[in-house]
Amino acid sequence: MNLPKTVTSDVTLFWLRRDLRLTDNAGLYHALKERGNVLCVFIFDSHILDKLEDEDDRRVTFIYQSLTLLKNDLERHGSSLLVIHSTPEQFFTSVSPKAVYTNHDYEPYARKRDELVAGILAKKQVEFKSFKDQVIFEKGEVLKDDGSPYTVFTPYSKKWKAALKPFYYKTYPTEKYFVNLIKTDPLAMPSLDEIGFKKVTDSFPERVIKSEVIKQYHKQRDYPGIEGTSKLSVHLRFGTVSIRQLVTIALKKNEVWLNELIWREFYHMILWHFPKVEQAFKPAYDLIEWRNDKDEFEAWCKGETGYPIVDAGMRELNQTGFMHNRVRMIVASFLTKHLLIDWRWGEAYFARKLLDFDLAANNGGWQWAAGSGCDAAPYFRVFNPYLQTEKFDPERTYIKRWVPEVDTPDYPKPIVDHAFARERVLSVYKVALES
Ligand code: FAD
Repeated sequence: MNLPKTVTSDVTLFWLRRDLRLTDNAGLYHALKERGNVLCVFIFDSHILDKLEDEDDRRVTFIYQSLTLLKNDLERHGSSLLVIHSTPEQFFTSVSPKAVYTNHDYEPYARKRDELVAGILAKKQVEFKSFKDQVIFEKGEVLKDDGSPYTVFTPYSKKWKAALKPFYYKTYPTEKYFVNLIKTDPLAMPSLDEIGFKKVTDSFPERVIKSEVIKQYHKQRDYPGIEGTSKLSVHLRFGTVSIRQLVTIALKKNEVWLNELIWREFYHMILWHFPKVEQAFKPAYDLIEWRNDKDEFEAWCKGETGYPIVDAGMRELNQTGFMHNRVRMIVASFLTKHLLIDWRWGEAYFARKLLDFDLAANNGGWQWAAGSGCDAAPYFRVFNPYLQTEKFDPERTYIKRWVPEVDTPDYPKPIVDHAFARERVLSVYKVALES
């Protein structure tokens, strides 16, 4: 690790993770307000990078581009961004700044990492302060009256809304304190190549909040053929937009869209209280005898199942890293119910491919589709891909965009008959759940 001389004992570090923006950033605001000489740092964590299977992983390019923008912004203010490729524990062992500020991160790996770093810094008597930034309500802030966590969305969302006061979504005016950023010449940044990745040339969903889309959201959100949803998920994932800004807009423009932002917090809250994500939330579902046919799984991954709406979704995912929510539900239901493949296989494939991959939402979405999650669809509700198409892609706009050969002899026959698959899953689930 090439450690710059910049990190001296009078420097306060602000450690960026899932909050890659300078404006309305809670931890950065506190660092700048309370301290001088604040240096922003990002660590390309080899514990995380080493596990990524694809050297052209889109997320790494997205992060890299976001950091480049952020660094340019900091340089316009006479400061810079320190970008490290190492592990957090190595980095924090090798520096002794005055203090370290950051924002809370709630995933199981992040919780362990932050405990470790807190221990390293405590030994050196370096103060480590962390703030809520990623969500409006975190951890145990929205609980049932008896103090236990909610496991059903609707009562949770009611309590969430009742607890919401302007204080919770007001902006942190970081700009007021930019004078407290450290003054430095531009710092060198490792190239993507140096950290072991290739740049992808895809264009990512824009960091633009489209007012018209949000206003019409309740009418358009279920139609994958039109631009009916915000496509802000990757920006929420990496914090290139602020949740407080989005909630302010949602409150003015569309309560249905606000509910989606609350779903995001619901799953974060669930992950916080129930971090054992590798198990079914409802234990009986771990007794299901999955078929786990590898060839069928591969056909599903490639978008070659012969079910056009499923194939369109999987191809959208493979080619862009995004998939419309309605279609995520359809493909997840198809994998678990029509093909009887363990939801964990699908979850892992999404985790590899999704630009907006988020452990809480992805695990929540997959367990919802499989029926095993909290507040999941009842197991006997099996999506019919043909009826879903008639309802949500009636002109087959979405299908034709992603599966141009759909009406030609080149397109495969259905991998399984719908009526047969429906009966099969009902009997297999019944055996597991009623045993
Ligand atoms: P919009 O419809 O505009 O919604 C605004 C924001 O609300 C989204 O950006 C997202 O942050 C949040 N949101 C919306 N719906 C949900 C939801 N059901 N659960 C949690 N948050 C929600 N979302 C992820 O961010 N990461 C994932 O890894 C992920 N995996 C999923 C897997 C499955 C099987 C399913 C069914 C859903 C998954 N979702 C995931 C939720 C949802 O599909 C995406 O958030 C949404 O499609 C993103 O598009 P958008 O930004 O246009 O959302």
